[in-house]
Amino acid sequence: MIDLQYKYSDGVYYLEGVIDEHANLKTYTIAPDQVIRWNLRGITLINSLGIRLMVRFIKELGDASIEFYDCPTPFLEAASIIPSLIGGPNSAHRVKSVYLPMRCKDHHQFNASVPVKEISFDDGVAMPIFDCPTCKMPLDPNLELELEDLLSFLSEDS
Ligand SMILES: [Zn+2]
Repeated sequence: MIDLQYKYSDGVYYLEGVIDEHANLKTYTIAPDQVIRWNLRGITLINSLGIRLMVRFIKELGDASIEFYDCPTPFLEAASIIPSLIGGPNSAHRVKSVYLPMRCKDHHQFNASVPVKEISFDDGVAMPIFDCPTCKMPLDPNLELELEDLLSFLSEDS
């Protein structure tokens, strides 16, 4: 079992590991009048019991502010199907950035933090362009799902 770990730095909780039935999410909260900031780039898995636990936790927060940073693919996949994971369909503004694997066919793969405000939802879902640090070619997100399926829930108009 890999416990959910966290590090706290400059007002942000960095969650790492697995969100499952053992995850103690309450550990990562602060005073109710402050904004809770979670960076989720270290989350490798969220299972169905973890989803249930987090949905309940977010519901209990009510209108308290929480912001999600560097949301990785496993979290985005879950939230795109179950919007109450972030607080419901009107809570997309809570997701500040996503963390996606990017790939250059000749070189390497790395993860890029993409601010949601730089993603266009006008005509489908369009990412800002990232260049490979080695060959300067534009990189593509390396995803199993279509970008649209993964990120459409972040459009406030949807
Ligand atoms: Zn390259």
